[in-house]
Amino acid sequence: MYSVKMRASRKTKEDEKPQHVSGAERLIPSTGGIYPCLKLMLDRALNHSLGPVDAVNFSINKIDTEINVIKSLPIVTVKVTNKQEGLHIAKIILEELNINQEVIKKSMNWLAVGGAPGGYNMRGAMLFDIYTSRRVEDDPFGGVRATNFDMTEASEKKLSEELNKIGAYNSRTRDALVLATKVCNFPGIIAELCCADDPSYSGGYVASKQRGYIRINHMKSPDHNRGGRIIFLDSRKCNIEQYKHYLKNTVVQVNDIGNVSRVYLYEELTNGLMETAEN
Ligand code: AMP
Repeated sequence: MYSVKMRASRKTKEDEKPQHVSGAERLIPSTGGIYPCLKLMLDRALNHSLGPVDAVNFSINKIDTEINVIKSLPIVTVKVTNKQEGLHIAKIILEELNINQEVIKKSMNWLAVGGAPGGYNMRGAMLFDIYTSRRVEDDPFGGVRATNFDMTEASEKKLSEELNKIGAYNSRTRDALVLATKVCNFPGIIAELCCADDPSYSGGYVASKQRGYIRINHMKSPDHNRGGRIIFLDSRKCNIEQYKHYLKNTVVQVNDIGNVSRVYLYEELTNGLMETAEN
């Protein structure tokens, strides 16, 4: 098995760090699969809606460690008509997961302005400890980045078939589902909240082991270029250092897809989530 990663960036001012534009990663079973994978990644880097890039870096590494195979979170799709409705649904889910209103408000604000000090997008995710009510990522500018995850070809096929039935497949969902499945699969992780930073896409999701991966089609205004990810954890149940190590180093491969529910409308969920996700 090989890990193939791509990272594309653009220089800002002479003396500033390059700005991250896009990234992708795959687990490829044999060397033959590496060439087509590199081409797809390069196409993605050179045609990003955030504009032209100055550098594209690839890495290819053979994986010698154990590969953890897991089933993806169940998938729920929610259709709303604007960001107010989308944020309201996200708030309902987070409240049902016992995250307090003050924390939810603060988190949504970070996603709206960018989680890095000064209001910039981060390369990784914020880590929020609900027990101490503090952010615990070591680097508040970069956050923590989850890597070393992918899904098998068979699960990708199943996912696209299932989501196509409800007219809701796209490659963004594929990548985000794998990431969210890895992120939530650790003791003491309560949820992950995500809003895309890509100005051409206004969707996001709330993922949790309890409720599954709940996709929401609008979570910000069209053309807005700030977003991010926040992972909510409870430090009474989660060893934070081990979790950071897990996010970075443990290789996770999704080998089956959880239940795919029908599309829910905003009006159906405003009184609570009911039984949306079944595994
Ligand atoms: P995207 O879903 O690619 O629009 O990314 C939205 C935000 O999620 C980015 O601005 C990052 O803050 C964060 N993010 C993207 N990829 C990762 C990752 N692999 N691990 C942790 N956070 C990430």
